[in-house]
Amino acid sequence: MSTATESEGFATAAAAGVHRLSIPTPFAVGRVNCYLIDDDPLTLVDAGPNSGTSFDELTQGLAALGKSLEQIELVIVTHEHIDHLGLVGLVAARSGAEVAAIDHAVPIVESFAAEMQANDDFASATMLRHGIPEDVVRALQSVSRAFRAWGAPAQVTRVLHDGDELAFRDRTWNVHWRPGHSPTDTVFEDAERRTLLAADHLLGHISSNPLITRPRAGATERPQALVTYLDSLTKTRAMDVDLVLPGHGDPVTEHRELIDERFRMHRRRADKLHRLIAERPRSAYELAQALWGNIAVTQAYLTLSEILGHTDLLLNEGRVREVEIGDTVRFESVAEPAPHSEQ
Ligand SMILES: [Zn+2]
Repeated sequence: MSTATESEGFATAAAAGVHRLSIPTPFAVGRVNCYLIDDDPLTLVDAGPNSGTSFDELTQGLAALGKSLEQIELVIVTHEHIDHLGLVGLVAARSGAEVAAIDHAVPIVESFAAEMQANDDFASATMLRHGIPEDVVRALQSVSRAFRAWGAPAQVTRVLHDGDELAFRDRTWNVHWRPGHSPTDTVFEDAERRTLLAADHLLGHISSNPLITRPRAGATERPQALVTYLDSLTKTRAMDVDLVLPGHGDPVTEHRELIDERFRMHRRRADKLHRLIAERPRSAYELAQALWGNIAVTQAYLTLSEILGHTDLLLNEGRVREVEIGDTVRFESVAEPAPHSEQ
């Protein structure tokens, strides 16, 4: 079994002072797991989306643990997504807590609105280039603008770096940057207790979607999100941990088994896409339709990310190439070299 029962894994964590707070979100993913670390400093890992309902449940959850929002001394950001980040600024403002985030996340957390606009512009251009119809792109733009209300900026007062140690009175965490699901994913390892706070880097019940993101800081090519993610998973697979506390859903106890399952799934999906491309050249949009049929507008970018992640694998392996026809990119199969015959 890859997932422990809720009571088991979360109870083990709670006994060590790590309390799960399940906070509602308006998104398809459902609730988000935030964690209260009952230590010195009193620490909140992620805060949930910026909404009245989420804020109420967060304060009630803290009260049930005998704490108040005002007592929080440190808020740690695991990554840039709004279901985790939205309330961080408000919690910091109410409590005076420090806000800690990995260096890569600082500009995004601090300039949230401008970053989201730039991401949306990139997403729209990428969707059009890969064959998604204009009306779908426009509809998704307005959905995304509406979703932005659940996010908010925060000032990072403590910048973390890959390899840092984060010291509490009763524990020390090792900070590891694990990009892929987002460019800023950060996981926190308690080596003594063999526990990993993984946020959305590794989820038990669903695979983490490696969302494609725009090129940053002087780069011209977009990062290969799935390729990056598989590298990050390889690093996590090598870790000796017994309990993984995720950003959604139940804890994971057999992380190597789960990661191997994810590797196999991505391999199968890449092979399946290669078979579809070998039939005839197709755009990423056509590939998504071949796999999933008609796609809901809100899922258009997620499914495009999923397709492009796997075509990146095939491109790197030299099994497909990109061909621009008009303004649209199509993928075509690279002919396999003829088998060498011994005459
Ligand atoms: Zn999330």
